[in-house]
Parts: sequence; C-alpha cells; structure tokens
Amino acid sequence: MQRFASSTARCPACACPVPSGWGLCGRCLASAQPPLIARCAAAVDYGYPWDALIARFKFRGEPGWATVLAEPMLEQAMARGLLPSGVLLVPIPVTSRRLAERGYNQAWELTKVLQRRTGRAALADALVRVIDAPDQHRLPQAQRLNNLRGAFAAHPDHVPRLAGARVVLVDDVRTTGATLNSAAQALQQAGVADIAALVLARTPSD
Ligand SMILES: [Zn+2]
Repeated sequence: MQRFASSTARCPACACPVPSGWGLCGRCLASAQPPLIARCAAAVDYGYPWDALIARFKFRGEPGWATVLAEPMLEQAMARGLLPSGVLLVPIPVTSRRLAERGYNQAWELTKVLQRRTGRAALADALVRVIDAPDQHRLPQAQRLNNLRGAFAAHPDHVPRLAGARVVLVDDVRTTGATLNSAAQALQQAGVADIAALVLARTPSD
C-alpha cells in the first residue's frame, strides 16, 4: 500500500494540501483565533485506492483493515513527531446506534494498532457522544458545524487522567474538521493541555 501513500505537503494545522515548502494554509493563516488543534496530520488524500478500502473497513464489517490502514498513519505521525512518549491516544467515538449497527468503532480499531505499534497509552471511551446527530452527509456545511457543537463530552471517569494530558485524537477521515474540533472542545473543557490529531485520510478541500 505504501506506493499509494502520497507525499503531499500539508498544512500542519488542518492537513489540507499546500504547495511544497509551504507552512500554514491560507484559511489557517487568516483564522482569528489560534486553533484548538494546532497540529493535524493526515496520511493520505481521500481518493483511490483509500476511499474503497475505507468503505470496506467501515461499512462492510471488515475491521481487520485497520492493520493495513494504520501503517501510513504511523509513518506520518513519526515524520511529524506527533507521538512523543507520554502522549495519550483518543479515538473519535461513533454514536451508540452506529456502534450497535457496525459492531465496532473504526477509529478505535485504528487506535489499537497505533497503540500496539508505538506502546503509547490509549483510552477507548475518553470521549462520549452526547447527541446522536442526524446523518451528516445530507447537511450543508454550516448546518453540520452547528449540529456537531457540543456533540462530545469527556467521560467523567477519565477526567482525572485527561487533566494536563497531551492527547492525539484519532479518526479515519477528516472532512470539515468540525468533528475533530468538537471533540477538542470537550477535551479542553476536561483540562487537556495539548491536543493534536492524526487521521488516515483528508478530503481534498473544505
Ligand atoms: Zn490549514
């Protein structure tokens, strides 16, 4: 699979493609507030052959793909120095309905491989979904952002572990960044000191 993993230059904050040698993308440069997630790494662009593999991984009950799909993530994380010792891996949770249908959380499947390969700590349920949002794909972006606001909360049992921690959020695909930002808000409320993100695939544009 490695030959399909592109070496696209990416914005260090949102992982969108930028010209080679470039730093922050225009959108991140122009944003008034510093982002909650200062560093986001994406391993590949959401396109051939990854889109098809991700679909099998997520929608066809084949969680075993996590072993293959986590490889380029690991490579990217190492290249970016995203997983120093002491860091805590936290997967984006799926809704309870989705978990019941699918039988697994794809972000946790990826996280488990990263944990195994790096020896870093991971917490499957550090975050919980507090609302079951309607299907995001059918909504325009503004509505998506609204819908996801407050969609996550830190699990009360894990707040002592999260306070002051350095967390890397893990997800399969980043689109608008709304999901990651919403999760980061919940982590920040729990007192997390530093939040980065690692995703497998980045959709080409916001
Ligand atoms: Zn950016």
